[in-house]
Amino acid sequence: MRYDWTITELRALYDLPLFALISKAHHLHVQFHTSGYIQVCNLISIKTGGCPEDCKYCAQSSRYQTAVAAQPMMQRPQVLQLAKEAIARGATRICLGAAWRSVRDGKQFDEVLAMIKAVAELDVEVCCTLGMLTEPQAERLKSAGLYAYNHNLDSSEQFYKTIITTRTYQDRLRTLDVVGKTGLKVCCGGIVGMGETVEDRLQLLLTLATLKPHPESVPINQLSAVAGTPLEGQSAVSAWDVLRIIAVARCVLPKSMIRLSCGRIAMSYEQQALSFFAGANSIFIGEKLLTVANTSPDHDEAMFQLLGLTKNDSIS
Ligand code: SAM
Ligand code: SF4
Repeated sequence: MRYDWTITELRALYDLPLFALISKAHHLHVQFHTSGYIQVCNLISIKTGGCPEDCKYCAQSSRYQTAVAAQPMMQRPQVLQLAKEAIARGATRICLGAAWRSVRDGKQFDEVLAMIKAVAELDVEVCCTLGMLTEPQAERLKSAGLYAYNHNLDSSEQFYKTIITTRTYQDRLRTLDVVGKTGLKVCCGGIVGMGETVEDRLQLLLTLATLKPHPESVPINQLSAVAGTPLEGQSAVSAWDVLRIIAVARCVLPKSMIRLSCGRIAMSYEQQALSFFAGANSIFIGEKLLTVANTSPDHDEAMFQLLGLTKNDSIS
């Protein structure tokens, strides 16, 4: 476990011949994880749309004319029903997402705390992603039974400024610090394919690999170019670039769970197989990832059979 990586080292890893890179990553992967074991997670959008932030990729931002309208908070019984369905399909982590800039104390937050408590009683890891947090709010989340808090850095600090202007990278790092201080696990990753450079992607991994401890889990999203957002016309990122980023992530974050997140719907079984070999070891199941389409559960079941993958059945 190292926390003193340099961008030069990450670039040298990234530029290795592909087979050298993915076998190096695989060799490290099996030192900390069981090859072919995949954690299955499920992301439930408990409060969708109407977000005041201007993240250029996001269907839920109220700044853009997308197909996603603001909806009231989901009722707790429905959240529990969705969680139970996901658990029946092998999920060991349930993530609750809200399209908020930050958490505000009051009735809605109290309701989220009650949801977390109820889902935690189903004996799964509970994660949530609610935007920026204060320390007392993080403490309340922990007491409610939260396991991890997701707060993505998305890209390099340099590129972040071009994608989001309603908050800063430092705002994100501050919340990550609050989360870590409370003893909650940190879930933090990013997006490839927004028009960033390889350097930006490696800078994100460098930031994550110099956090101490490393994030417990790292979602790797591929941009879903949503109609109505400023990134709607963005062309798809090369599968080979994504594979290299996954492999480098595995090399510098050997213990972290690396989750294939948004964009997996566009990945062939072959691409996913190579990604798992190179160190990805978690996916989201379910028809939707918040508001964007995800692979169907049946398609995923067929992949598990085809590749001989095993769902991680034990929670951490
Ligand atoms: N509002 C909370 C926040 O911004 O932290 C909820 C986050 S929710 C998990 C949003 C995350 O999903 C973003 O940080 C981004 O990494 C990813 N995401 C959202 N829209 C996406 C898109 N169109 N394509 C790829 N990833 C996306
Ligand atoms: Fe809001 Fe989060 Fe979407 Fe940004 S990513 S617009 S903060 S819901």
